[in-house]
Amino acid sequence: MEEKVQSDSLMLELLLSGKVHFHELDSRVGPEKAALLRRQALERMTKKRFDGIGAYKLEYASVSGRNAENVIGSVPIPLGVAGPITIDGEYAKGDFYVPLATTEGALIAGVNRGMKALSASGGVKALVIKDAMARAPLFEFESIKQVSEFLKWLPKNSGQLKRSAEETTRHGRLESIEPFVLGNNVWLRLSFKTGDAMGMNMVTIASEAVCLYIEKNFEGAKMLSVSGNMCSDKKDSYINSLLGRGKTVLAEAVVKEDVLERILRVSAEELNKINVKKNILGSSRAGSSKLNGHAANQVAAIFAATGQDLAQVVESSSCYTWTELRNNDLYISVTMPSLELGTVGGGTSLRAQKEALSIMGVEGSGDPAGSNSAKFAEIVAATVLAGELNLISIQFSRELGKAHANLGRKA
Ligand code: NAP
Repeated sequence: MEEKVQSDSLMLELLLSGKVHFHELDSRVGPEKAALLRRQALERMTKKRFDGIGAYKLEYASVSGRNAENVIGSVPIPLGVAGPITIDGEYAKGDFYVPLATTEGALIAGVNRGMKALSASGGVKALVIKDAMARAPLFEFESIKQVSEFLKWLPKNSGQLKRSAEETTRHGRLESIEPFVLGNNVWLRLSFKTGDAMGMNMVTIASEAVCLYIEKNFEGAKMLSVSGNMCSDKKDSYINSLLGRGKTVLAEAVVKEDVLERILRVSAEELNKINVKKNILGSSRAGSSKLNGHAANQVAAIFAATGQDLAQVVESSSCYTWTELRNNDLYISVTMPSLELGTVGGGTSLRAQKEALSIMGVEGSGDPAGSNSAKFAEIVAATVLAGELNLISIQFSRELGKAHANLGRKA
């Protein structure tokens, strides 16, 4: 035991002197001890205590080599649930509780209130209309003549390009190849079905195989980057909104007049006016492509709870919130063109995140493959719809500040 303590303190000294680097520790002492030693070294370097970071224990062995490097601990986020919400989707059918991880007081309560109103009105219909995770490699050519020859070559070779891609994966299917040209540069936007995976690693590996085939078989094609930013990953862009990326998903409901009065204390006409003037007119005037109230709130909280790639909240929260009057009832829908999520891969296999997915019955592979991620996408869209409905209603009743003061500012 004493020997072990001595070897730990020796390793700590080696870390502090820079003779051993943080990233070398996992293989030398195992992920658990590595996290502790790195944290202790950092405490010594910064002359601070990190008891909080060390208090919440992950199984570091399940993280190492998959989800994070140089781990020193974990940062907990409170996890709540909203619901139940009644959904009649193609895959999501029934009543669902939805896990939301957030530090924004009033968020979960607000979503819960929206869900209550939607369920009392008969529930939400939801549908995935497109499934297309994209990667867009960038090729450089000598001249525009070569570009034109390449554009003619492409459709003649699409079968072989598809075969090259699909040799790298069991679930990935190359569905379309769309060229975009600028001078002597060509981007090929490759769109894949990815089963239950969000698919970024899967389609990147498959795209590299496509690029290799092109470079070998079309003289003069030079691949500059497998990701040429026409994809467009983790960045705001119109292309994702126009062509879709990941799941393109819709959700709609008709909220009954009596429910509007009883639960949301607002009329259909008032809600419609606020949506049009705030979400459509206000966003347009501001030059924003995101015509919604706060879709990012629901998307970020569900992504954090379920091990999704958090940076993809950027495009996944793209959402158009639309309302219409149906006599004295309110028709409301959300259109989310680029919802990038998965129920396998990435952080979804971590224990707590997998349990969060299981609350909605979407953990792991679906049967058939792809059905779990489609069900999950429908649930996310329905949750966003609930958040939008509630937010618009509290704008009208001028309760936004009050709700946050009551639920988000306790001394
Ligand atoms: P992944 O874990 O890299 O790949 C998914 C794996 O699950 C594949 O090996 C796939 O096998 C397998 N699989 C088993 N059952 C499946 C099912 N039912 N449906 C689909 N696949 C199934 O996950 P990924 O979704 O491709 O990538 C997600 C990760 O990529 C995240 O960690 C994210 O942060 C990261 N990321 C990477 C990039 C990049 O440029 N590489 C960019 C952004 C994010 P088969 O392939 O044989 O089907």
